[in-house]
Amino acid sequence: MAYDNDNIFAKILRGEIPSEKLYEDDETYVFMDIMPRAEGHCLIIPKTPCRNMLDASDDQLTACLRTTRLMGHAVMKAFGAGGVTVQQFNEGVGGQEVFHLHYHVLPRHEGVSLRPPGKMEDMAVLKANADKIRAALAGM
Ligand code: 5GP
Repeated sequence: MAYDNDNIFAKILRGEIPSEKLYEDDETYVFMDIMPRAEGHCLIIPKTPCRNMLDASDDQLTACLRTTRLMGHAVMKAFGAGGVTVQQFNEGVGGQEVFHLHYHVLPRHEGVSLRPPGKMEDMAVLKANADKIRAALAGM
């Protein structure tokens, strides 16, 4: 399957759609998931195009995983979480909805289940949670 330059995350990377940015480096970009399944749910994407893990280069995977680890530490610190769930889906049958490689980072607390998917977060709440993560990153 070919990469679609007009997928939502490509538009976010080009600044055509707003996003609550948390972090970026030369190879990766991190922002809040607009329909979080846990408080602090964020997404790590490569700045260069690929649909998912199956067509990603070694460099894209390495860069994304490095940033995913960083964000795991950041969200644990920001929310006092006891652990982190990382999710990554490949193609529609594999659960993927947006076809630009992305890793979900979800801070977890004992006894708290993930929320069901598909519920848009209040933008003020999203920003407040983003502020907590940015503050945690600044202190790392
Ligand atoms: P997946 O492709 O891994 O199934 O999930 C795509 C994720 O992207 C979902 O968790 C969804 O909430 C998130 N998402 C979809 N559209 C947008 C958007 O426009 N902005 C942001 N920040 N997240 C989005």
